[in-house]
Amino acid sequence: RGTVVLAATPIGNTADASARLVALLERADVVAAEDTRRLYALANRLGVHVSGRVVANHDHNERGMADRLLDEAETGATVLLVSDAGMPTINDPGLAVVRRAIERGVPVTCAPGPSAVLDALALSGLPTDRFCYEGFLPRKHGERVAHLRQLKAEPRTIVFYETVHRIDEAMADLEAVLGPDRPMALCRELTKDYEQIRRGTIGEIRAGLSADPPRGEMVLVIGGASEEEQAASMQSLGVEELADLAIA
Ligand code: SAM
Repeated sequence: RGTVVLAATPIGNTADASARLVALLERADVVAAEDTRRLYALANRLGVHVSGRVVANHDHNERGMADRLLDEAETGATVLLVSDAGMPTINDPGLAVVRRAIERGVPVTCAPGPSAVLDALALSGLPTDRFCYEGFLPRKHGERVAHLRQLKAEPRTIVFYETVHRIDEAMADLEAVLGPDRPMALCRELTKDYEQIRRGTIGEIRAGLSADPPRGEMVLVIGGASEEEQAASMQSLGVEELADLAIA
């Protein structure tokens, strides 16, 4: 019986590729890649010859691909699954294959490595003992505000992925809902030559955006609600919501 191996790939610095990733790229029988051109570009930078069959496995075909990949693993193949950058399944393809492997009893393992969420969290200077990962905020303003309201009393450090196209709107909504005083870190271009971490309050970071618009890839790390903020959130809950909480 073969195995499915999820492997993390670099998020900007090719030298972060692990020795295990390199060996798997060289030896896996099948490589399922989010974007096959990016996979070959990475292999090229690493000086690796990919000997196995390369297939595309992305958000749009993953459900159909999962059983085909697992059929191969069941006949003894090592199936390597990679996304364009970082850890597969973390806002990237891979989960459908993992779920189906669990259902079918096919061994699945992981060659860990870079992921922007942990890199940003560790560099933020905010508490790391517990945190919640929120992925990308909703695109639409109304949904984004509703989502942030639900997070207002969250005591853990909160990590969001964001894109350069929506950073202004996201920061405006973060300030409006969570207030200007929470500590935060805007972590951009992690592991790359122009890596930059801006630390301050939500209000300070937002005020700096127009003078120096952040480019590239970015992660926002926001301090959790203080005890006072949690208490204030409880007080602002309606009687019915409080009753629901008491029942729960
Ligand atoms: N699977 C990836 C991981 O493990 O981090 C995440 C993929 S998600 C489609 C891409 C988002 O991750 C970007 O929009 C950005 O928020 C974040 N990201 C990825 N690489 C980054 C980097 N080098 N610096 C900052 N953020 C990054």
